[in-house]
Amino acid sequence: MTPSAAAAGTRLDPWLGSYADRTHGMRASEIRALFAVANRPEVVSLAGGMPFLEGLPLEELAALASHVVATRGLTSLQYGSGQGDETLREQILDVMALEGIRAHADDVVVTTGSQQGLDLVTRIFVNPGDVVVAEAPSYVGALGVFRAYQADVVHVPIDADGLVPEALDETLTQLAAAGRTVKLLYTVPNFHNPAGVSLSAARRPRVLEIARRHGVLVVEDNPYGLLGFDAPPRDALRALEEDGVVYLGSFSKTFAPGYRVGWVVAPHAVREKLVLASESAILCPSNASQLAISAYLQTFDWRGQVKSYGEQYRERRDAMISALSEYLPSASWNVPEGGFYTWVRLPDGLDSRDMLPRAVTARVAYVPGTAFYYDGAGSDHLRLSFCYPTPERIREGVRRLAGVVSGEREL
Ligand code: PMP
Repeated sequence: MTPSAAAAGTRLDPWLGSYADRTHGMRASEIRALFAVANRPEVVSLAGGMPFLEGLPLEELAALASHVVATRGLTSLQYGSGQGDETLREQILDVMALEGIRAHADDVVVTTGSQQGLDLVTRIFVNPGDVVVAEAPSYVGALGVFRAYQADVVHVPIDADGLVPEALDETLTQLAAAGRTVKLLYTVPNFHNPAGVSLSAARRPRVLEIARRHGVLVVEDNPYGLLGFDAPPRDALRALEEDGVVYLGSFSKTFAPGYRVGWVVAPHAVREKLVLASESAILCPSNASQLAISAYLQTFDWRGQVKSYGEQYRERRDAMISALSEYLPSASWNVPEGGFYTWVRLPDGLDSRDMLPRAVTARVAYVPGTAFYYDGAGSDHLRLSFCYPTPERIREGVRRLAGVVSGEREL
């Protein structure tokens, strides 16, 4: 269809016939559709994954920002390297050392959040119809990227110890027998979004061995790894294997998402392609953001800030778990040891998607489990985030949710 006078001025999209095939799978995430209502002050939002930033020392950060402008102003306002600022890439090595990763600054590509890392990796590897194997459930934003590149996502189950190696092996064997091309294994090994679980130390080498045997590249998406509540960080998959893993990191949860700075660590040849893909997408990541983060890492006690985030989120996790035990004993859930989320299984027969409008009317929001599956499964689960509301609001939100659940059971 071409634009016409008839279509102009109506709500019909005159370009409907022109969009590329890859847009057909694009749709607003269930989270985005929710944001408008969930952000109303009377609604307790247990839906979004916004970090709670109110504890950040704003005056000191303002002084830091003006120091960056005063000392590096022209650089910070200028275009920069496609791969990212070299000093920041060196500093990122110190952050990753906490998870046992040894790399070279040349292996690191700075991205506009780890979301761009996901986009770049998918862009350079996935042809339409290729398979991406991903946990069931999986991060909704990653599923959106895979859809946009017309991948076919095949889910592999997880349990309390993360991805199940036997199921992974079996799935990859079946896909090979069916002649399918599997390009990536996408995994969030720490404090999973949405499931809250972590891949056990014992399973990590097994998952890597299986991926290697099947010739599948592992994409390790790790924005929450440093936000454990009780134990020191586990060794990353990338710490155990270099050639078969692309690692995605982010400052969004350990510092602040507004700067939009993340990074990718990749084997050398992959790294070169990532830089080319990034240059064609954005030319270079923001120098202003990179220099601000670099100055922060240099002058602030960032390890102390990460620890204080962990304490803050642990208190919220405790509030959520105790409220679930008190108000919603008919459901089941896991007790996450870090991160932002718990994954709740509703009493039999309830559908988290159907229930959502009634929850919003009762002034509580969550994300239905279906958002985290490629194939529409997951309606018996929902994701609750404990990152943003205060402990009191979390309790109130769970109380309201429990009221909605008991109303459903009487329907
Ligand atoms: N991966 C996962 C698992 C996430 O939860 C998020 C943010 N919610 C991202 C990637 C993207 O984070 P960012 O782009 O802010 O680094």
